Amino acid sequence: DLLVVGSANADLVIGVDRRPDAGETVLGSDLATHPGGKGANQAFAAARLGARTALLARVGDDAHGRLLLDSQRTAGVDTVGVLVGGAPTGVALITVDPSGDNSIVVSPGANARLTPEDVKAAGSLFHASLVVSAQLEIPLETVEEVVRTLPPATRFVLNPSPPRPLPPEVLAACDPLIVNEHEAKVLLGDASGDGTPEDWARRLLAKGPRSVVVTLGAEGALVASATEGAVRVPSVKVAAVDTTGAGDSFTAALAWKLGAGLSLAEAAAYAARVGAVAVTRRGAQESFPTAAEVEALSEV
Ligand code: ADP
Repeated sequence: DLLVVGSANADLVIGVDRRPDAGETVLGSDLATHPGGKGANQAFAAARLGARTALLARVGDDAHGRLLLDSQRTAGVDTVGVLVGGAPTGVALITVDPSGDNSIVVSPGANARLTPEDVKAAGSLFHASLVVSAQLEIPLETVEEVVRTLPPATRFVLNPSPPRPLPPEVLAACDPLIVNEHEAKVLLGDASGDGTPEDWARRLLAKGPRSVVVTLGAEGALVASATEGAVRVPSVKVAAVDTTGAGDSFTAALAWKLGAGLSLAEAAAYAARVGAVAVTRRGAQESFPTAAEVEALSEV
C-alpha cells in the first residue's frame, strides 16, 4: 500500500576521542555497522508499524547491500524493487566524539545510480500503492520521474532531505511536503531564522504543494493546507536519548496513515507518537516501534 522510493546506506560508525587533523591518524572504537539511508529507514519504519510496504532503491552487489536487503526483509518490506549492482552500496562514514557530535562523509554509491529508467521499469509497484514517499538522497531527475509515474489516485509525500531547490512539478505533487526547520529555511532561501513555523508553512504552500508539514522536534509539528489552514500537532513528552531517525519514522507513519484514510492532522498526531517512541531509543532502524509500542506510549 506504501511505496518508498529512496536511498539505502550502510552507516559505519566509530567512536573517537577527537577527530583527526589532515595527515593524522587517530585510534577509535570497534566499528559498528548499521543499515540506514532515508529510504531504507522509512520503509523499515512503516513495515515495523504493520504497513504493507515496498522499497524501490539500489544497492551494490556487496556485503552492505546484503545487510540492507536482510534488514528490510526482517521488517517485512517487499524488496522486489531493490535493484542490485552498478556501484558499491552507499555508505555513511560516521565518527562520533565524546560530546556526541558527528562528522559524516557520505558516498552515495548505488543511490546515485537509481535512474528514471529504474522508476519507469517499476510501474507495477506504483500501481499497487496508495501512497508513494520519497526523499532527496537519490538523483533529483529520479524523483521527477516518480512524480510523472504517479497513478492519478496515488498520493505523493516528499521529505526534501538533504534540501535543495525543487522544480515546480515536484512541489505541486507533494501532499504533503514534510520539512524540519532547517529544510524549511533552505527551501525558502531564508537563513535568517526569522518568522514562525506558521509563516514558513504559509510561504511553502505558496510554492505549490497541496499541503505542508513542518516538524518541530520536541515541539511536535505543524500541518497546513490551503483548504484547512494551519494546525499545531503537539508532541508527546518523553525522555529523549537519540533523535536519529525521528524524522524518517514520522514521515513513514504519516504516509501510512494517510493511505489508511486519516486526515492530515490525525495522521500527524499518530506520526508524532511514533517519532516520540523513536527518540527514546538509540539508533535509527533499531529505535522504530511496532504499532503496539506506539499504543503503549505514555507521557513522562
Ligand atoms: P528531523 O529528525 O527530520 O530533524 P524532528 O527532529 O522535527 O525531525 O523530529 C520529527 C518528529 O519526531 C517531530 O515532529 C516529533 O513528533 C518527534 N520528535 C522529535 N524529537 C522529539 C522529542 N525530543 N520529544 C518528542 N518527540 C520528538
